[in-house]
Amino acid sequence: MNHTKVIDVLQSTQFGAEVVVKGWVRTKRGNKNVNFIAINDGSTIKNIQLVVDVEKFDEELLKKITTGAAVCVKGTLVQSQGKGQSVEVLAKEIEVYGTANPETYPLQKKGHSLEFLREIAHLRPRTNTFGAVFRIRHNMAMAIHTFFHQKGFFYFHTPIITASDCEGAGQMFQVTTKNLYDLKKDENGSITYDDDFFGKQASLTVSGQLEGELAAMGLGGIYTFGPTFRAENSNTPRHLAEFWMIEPEIAFYDINDNMDLAEEFIKYCVKWALENCRDDVQFLNDMFDKELIARLEGVLNQDFVRIPYGEGIRVLEEAVANGKKFEFPVYWGVDLASEHERYLVEEYYKCPVIMTDYPKEIKAFYMKQNDDGKTVRAMDVLFPQIGEIIGGSEREADYDKLLTRINELNIPMKDMWWYLDTRRFGSCPHSGFGLGFERLLLFVTGMANIRDVIPFPRTPKNAEF
Ligand code: ATP
Ligand code: MN
Repeated sequence: MNHTKVIDVLQSTQFGAEVVVKGWVRTKRGNKNVNFIAINDGSTIKNIQLVVDVEKFDEELLKKITTGAAVCVKGTLVQSQGKGQSVEVLAKEIEVYGTANPETYPLQKKGHSLEFLREIAHLRPRTNTFGAVFRIRHNMAMAIHTFFHQKGFFYFHTPIITASDCEGAGQMFQVTTKNLYDLKKDENGSITYDDDFFGKQASLTVSGQLEGELAAMGLGGIYTFGPTFRAENSNTPRHLAEFWMIEPEIAFYDINDNMDLAEEFIKYCVKWALENCRDDVQFLNDMFDKELIARLEGVLNQDFVRIPYGEGIRVLEEAVANGKKFEFPVYWGVDLASEHERYLVEEYYKCPVIMTDYPKEIKAFYMKQNDDGKTVRAMDVLFPQIGEIIGGSEREADYDKLLTRINELNIPMKDMWWYLDTRRFGSCPHSGFGLGFERLLLFVTGMANIRDVIPFPRTPKNAEF
């Protein structure tokens, strides 16, 4: 007989019917006559309760049923007598697939700290919290694909290994098959790569955008959704060395279209979570962050504030003049720190903010230059609790302006002829942005540390599991 998922058993009203459930024991309590065993199989945050008539089972078998053990139970579905659940299963047969010795199994009933659970990340999926987080993670991936698919955007796969170092040089992880103990060098002492696997220096990508632009120039609207890597040594609750990014790139979109898309997109994802992950979001709300649901609903009900960078700086300077203390200084030209972004969002506007027209010095070379000669058509979406959740821009479509900027910044373009071809042949206005998947998940789950929304986080000095 096939087993039924706990999520389906809990919704069934076929009382008296025989069911088979399989899962892991969460708790066991009771007395010498009857045991109540809560089983979870990951399909939902909720457990199914087994009622076990102790007399009818072998004592040795029941002893093996401890927290963490994997079991298969055949029984009768009944309406629950007790509080807290509507159905339960009267056990007729129990098989223990695998035991979990209470002396050594780390996940006993008592609540563990998130820090401790990070050290046993291989067991985290078995907890309520991470079950909820990873079900939401799956759901957000589905929401993202659905959103873009319905809009007629194509999921485009960009390479993970790249040989273009124009962006984020210094932040990149190198990919090599060279013998690091015996590196071939040229007469100047520089490492040569002609004998390396790709015949040139290669790295893990920091973004799929440049290739995404190539695709948008033929397919119209595309998005990427894949892993990206940054060797930035920032040990913060919002940075990972390996994270997933969603990067739409759309031909014939200007910065305003881009902002509209970003706002609609995030709201779509948040709404999806509220509608399709209600139990899990409610659990996280009750356990960690009593404001979570209110914050999610708040985002849905507000038009994001749209301001130029200059206005943001003015507001921040005014706050400083009125006694507000920030760790980092505020002045026109500064790359805003998360504390500044959060002040604007949480305290001043009390609403997500889309900030545009940043100084060109703090933004990437490919962003469309404004007529003032100082700013570019960048847009960052700033969120409560998170700070920057999206970074994007209208792209510079003019070949000469783009090349001038590349030369000003001394960006090595020798391997980038293919990118410049987008501006040489059929160039057009186009825009795009990058959403950090884990930053979205931080927002939607209310978790405070990015290490707790990805199954196996990679951060400086940490690549366990
Ligand atoms: P930050 O200033 O927060 O480091 P960034 O300006 O480097 O971000 P972008 O290069 O614009 O970010 O990347 C696009 C998006 O990717 C960001 O808005 C953010 O959501 C996400 N992101 C960037 N770096 C990381 C990281 N190290 N870990 C997780 N997500 C990241
Ligand atoms: Mn960064």
